[in-house]
Amino acid sequence: MSVETDREVKRSPASGLVIIISAPSGAGKDTILRRVLARDPRIAYSISMTTRAPRCGERDGYDYYFVDCATFERVRDSGGLFEWAEVHGNLYGTPREEVDRLTASGKDVILELDVQGMRNVREAGVDAATIFIMAPSIEELERRLTARATDSAEEIARRVARAREEIKERHEFDYIVINDDLNTAVEDLEAIIRSQRLRSSRQP
Ligand code: 5GP
Repeated sequence: MSVETDREVKRSPASGLVIIISAPSGAGKDTILRRVLARDPRIAYSISMTTRAPRCGERDGYDYYFVDCATFERVRDSGGLFEWAEVHGNLYGTPREEVDRLTASGKDVILELDVQGMRNVREAGVDAATIFIMAPSIEELERRLTARATDSAEEIARRVARAREEIKERHEFDYIVINDDLNTAVEDLEAIIRSQRLRSSRQP
């Protein structure tokens, strides 16, 4: 895992924000993000590259860029990734060109990363707002995953166990959004992004 950030650290105040979002599965992150992106054209979503196989319904170039290991390693080794990490045996990375192009055009870019990805970007000195989204409780998260009916009982148990671990790390993030009521969670995320835009260091 690594981050190559020289150019990122020199981002000008006029560049868009880098916003990092992490969430255990079942927290409702995708629904919140879809709404926020639909409501604010200044916000863009960075599509990651992954070696994981597409799940049913996922589309290449929309959910992820699905690539084989050799392609991932070639892009990574030629400096084409902003950050990357191995999660559950699969490689995930953020294409650098996309983040650079979007932020240079003034768009605020949302990166959806695991906790290691967030740490790597932060440790590299990138000016990024980091946000953890969670369900109101583990019981509610388990209920949502069960209601979704897309995973087996073992898979749900595995995701709940992983969520317990991820939740322990929530205080490493700048902000925590609790998705109890969807509208409130959407407004909370919008409020965070708005306050980041208003930081004095970002004002001309
Ligand atoms: P999934 O396979 O369920 O879509 O994602 C698994 C995990 O990988 C999630 O925690 C997700 O946030 C993380 N992830 C997705 N894309 C990236 C990426 O580009 N970089 C890093 N570090 N993590 C990612």
